[in-house]
Amino acid sequence: MSILAVLRRELGEDRVGSSPGLDGRVGPQSGEELATALRVLAAGEASVIVRGSGSWDTLGHPMPRARILLETTGLLGEMEVDAEDGVAHLPAGASVSSLSEHVRKETEGAWELPFDPVSPSSTLGGCLATASSGFCFGHPRDVVLGLEIVLASGQRVRCGGRVVKNVTGYDLAKLYLGSLGTLGVIEAAWIRLLPAPEKTECWWVPSGDPSQAVEPARLPSARAAAWLSAGLARELSKPGPGMLLELAGDAAAVAADAEFLVRQYGADASDPSGLAVVRGMRGRDPGGRIQVSARPSQLAESAASLSRAGAEILAHPARGLVWAFSSDEAVFSAAERAGEGFLVEAAPLAVRESRELFGENPALRPLQAAIKAQYDPAGILNPGRFAGRI
Ligand SMILES: Cc1cc2nc3c(=O)[nH]c(=O)nc-3n(C[C@H](O)[C@H](O)[C@H](O)COP(=O)(O)OP(=O)(O)OC[C@H]3O[C@@H](n4cnc5c(N)ncnc54)[C@H](O)[C@@H]3O)c2cc1C
Repeated sequence: MSILAVLRRELGEDRVGSSPGLDGRVGPQSGEELATALRVLAAGEASVIVRGSGSWDTLGHPMPRARILLETTGLLGEMEVDAEDGVAHLPAGASVSSLSEHVRKETEGAWELPFDPVSPSSTLGGCLATASSGFCFGHPRDVVLGLEIVLASGQRVRCGGRVVKNVTGYDLAKLYLGSLGTLGVIEAAWIRLLPAPEKTECWWVPSGDPSQAVEPARLPSARAAAWLSAGLARELSKPGPGMLLELAGDAAAVAADAEFLVRQYGADASDPSGLAVVRGMRGRDPGGRIQVSARPSQLAESAASLSRAGAEILAHPARGLVWAFSSDEAVFSAAERAGEGFLVEAAPLAVRESRELFGENPALRPLQAAIKAQYDPAGILNPGRFAGRI
């Protein structure tokens, strides 16, 4: 019997279908169904592409060995929002926009979900599996208290939970964050919510290079920060490079930081709609988008070398992240030399087939391969997608 026939028998007709370029697709609607699907797939050694809303299909190496699409958008299990403690248990398949709305409603606007993906359809599972941070909020790993995972074998496991200090031994949740769905499929998560700010304001801080913007981007009430090269700044009608900064918090803290920005940096109040424009820029793909990590002391030179190679630049100075937008081969080469590491976030198929897209320390590769072999011995989850094509 074919894998698809077994999946139909185990899960029902409506959970299985076709998918262009693959043998088919399966869409489990609960953690239990997900576990059953993975047991069947593992037994048949049938590799899968794990997909949420598919907003970041271009991330990672192509997966020619994959046969089945495993859709997670049916994982819409129980939601629990605790407005007292500011924590929530949320299903991985739901969109971040619907979950944010739910949290706002349930807490009467007191708390917010600290994710800010480019696409409103992005799922919570996708945010956690990519663990990508943007301009707003911090790194996803800082807000995940616990995860419920289904391993490649179909075994359901939990790590962490609803309270911060219940982890003994290794905090295994961190292993799954950023592993691009190559070690297990996230079913649900406990998330620490953030208090909704009393006041928000947007400011424009003129600065010739991102290293000059590190200090203002680290102000206590700085929530979103995006330094833009001259070409991108023009799209916000700014005369030269600089940083769009959102201050958020209680009114007194925001007022104190705003006063400092004006006095120290000659900052001007800016239209908050600029944040949406910048979010759109972050998702832009002019044939190539590369993220470079740099220490504060490397920021200026990293941005300058990528600009010299022909890229427009966006940066989060406080997080040491620089994004270069270009399809030019010279920019890909410059990114390999700039900073401490790089990630090719988007590139044409030929580049994703031929280049190493994850420029992290190669000494980690044997360790990553050993972990993959332990968690997914048959290599059925997103085969070849991650660093080192594991
Ligand atoms: C330009 C850009 C800017 C971004 N900025 C931010 C930001 O500011 N803040 C932020 O939080 N995020 C940010 N992200 C990350 C963003 O949250 C993710 O790209 C998005 O949420 C992916 O969701 P998706 O459902 O479309 O995932 P998909 O595109 O479907 O999948 C992305 C990856 O996650 C894996 N995956 C999906 N669901 C699961 C699951 N349930 N279990 C295991 N693996 C899974 C897939 O296999 C794949 O490797 C940004 C991404 C991009 C491209």
